[in-house]
Amino acid sequence: MPSHNAPGNAVMWFRRDLRLGDNPALLEACSADGVLPLFVLDPALWDPAGAPRRAYLAASLHALDTSLHRHHASLSVLHGDPVEMVVRAARTVGAGQVHIAADYGPYGHRRDAAVEEALGEHGIDLVRTGSPYAVAPGRVFNGSGQPYKVYTPFSKAWMEHGWRAPVDPPAGAHWLSLDETVAIPVVEVPDGLELPDAGEASARARWEAYLTDGLDDHDTGRDRPDQDRTSRMSVHLKWGEIHPRTMLADLASRRSRAAATYRKELAWREFYADVLFHHPQSAREYLRPEFAAMTYDEPGAALDAWREGRTGYPIVDAGMRQLRATGWMHNRVRMIVASFLVKDLHLEWQHGARHFMGWLVDGDLASNQHGWQWTAGCGTDAAPYFRVFNPTSQGRKFDPQGTYVRRWVPELADVQDPHEPGPVGDYPAPIVVHAEERLEALARWEQIR
Ligand code: FAD
Repeated sequence: MPSHNAPGNAVMWFRRDLRLGDNPALLEACSADGVLPLFVLDPALWDPAGAPRRAYLAASLHALDTSLHRHHASLSVLHGDPVEMVVRAARTVGAGQVHIAADYGPYGHRRDAAVEEALGEHGIDLVRTGSPYAVAPGRVFNGSGQPYKVYTPFSKAWMEHGWRAPVDPPAGAHWLSLDETVAIPVVEVPDGLELPDAGEASARARWEAYLTDGLDDHDTGRDRPDQDRTSRMSVHLKWGEIHPRTMLADLASRRSRAAATYRKELAWREFYADVLFHHPQSAREYLRPEFAAMTYDEPGAALDAWREGRTGYPIVDAGMRQLRATGWMHNRVRMIVASFLVKDLHLEWQHGARHFMGWLVDGDLASNQHGWQWTAGCGTDAAPYFRVFNPTSQGRKFDPQGTYVRRWVPELADVQDPHEPGPVGDYPAPIVVHAEERLEALARWEQIR
């Protein structure tokens, strides 16, 4: 049995850090005599993931394996409970240490504690180096030592805290592999779904193209789904194909306003991870508990119409269809469809958040649940509940020529004003009247004020 901190071999257990570059945990692992690159397909995460996310993850694992081949290594994949699989892998290669980037989500945190305990029984250490964030959740506090509840002061303190410079990819490691593994799954991409290219090389290429051609328009273009000018980096960040530290270092070398705005977008991601870390129950429950007492409708036909893009509100339907076709939706439209579910259909945010997690390739518990709670008025910062998005005027404002709606709702391609709700051919009449539901939402809110 290896003793604590024995030199010898190590395992690099990849999870949502599917890259070789700027990966401090991997560098630590590579200082061992031999290192096993390992991924565990955990049924607790794999089984409930929607087809788009599974297909993307499988493609990203293939890409990681290809990157490892260039180092004459390959990714060993096991299928099963990580508590059992990681211990088995570590013991098979005689590892004294298993290296990971720390996971701060509720499930990952619990899983890692269980793996750590099981490894400890065999004298093997679990070593956490870095995290998927520039500043790990739980590091930034206000003057009274409390976590921030509001984004803007958090983002300032986060900037002041700062982060490390990126690190180089590993060189000269001695790579190990397991004899008994499962193949990296090949997941059929569901019919008609167009997924972005996965992997570290694609993430870097996308980021570099955005720095050259997109960033300068970030300030003006990011709210326009018709122009589609956001970076599309969320999916690469979700799977750790690039680390935000790498992106922040590139932004620091550009002193433009657009670079500063983009940095603030990344701060939202870090803020929500921090909030979820301090309030793990907010993955399922209202961050502001008083909202649990509001009257909501039972899910039924209206939820189905929303999910399928048949509400009769063109911008809502366009967003919901973009989600099904590409596994992604523009941020402005995410807000519009979320507001519609909660305030026009009077359904609890969790129904919508679950649907998003099933379809989004960038589906991330912290950003998704808190994006939903923010829009629903029960989360951080509070978009105040009484500010109810009007889907028609939002559509006209952010998709002025109707290009976005025409693209995703072909029934409306040829109508003069595609934002005007109303039945057109096969396109349905609105399932609710927005002006009436707005008043209904406000009345329900009055009851809990
Ligand atoms: P850009 O505008 O180019 O932004 C750059 C990066 O900043 C993003 O990739 C993302 O990492 C970060 N970012 C920007 N805005 C936000 C934000 N509001 N919250 C958190 N991070 C942000 N983002 C996810 O990554 N995963 C989710 O599951 C998710 N669910 C959401 C659900 C709702 C209801 C809402 C309103 C927002 C959600 N977001 C989520 C945030 C945001 O919509 C996406 O990050 C963004 O649309 C991704 O596209 P992009 O990379 O082109 O963004």
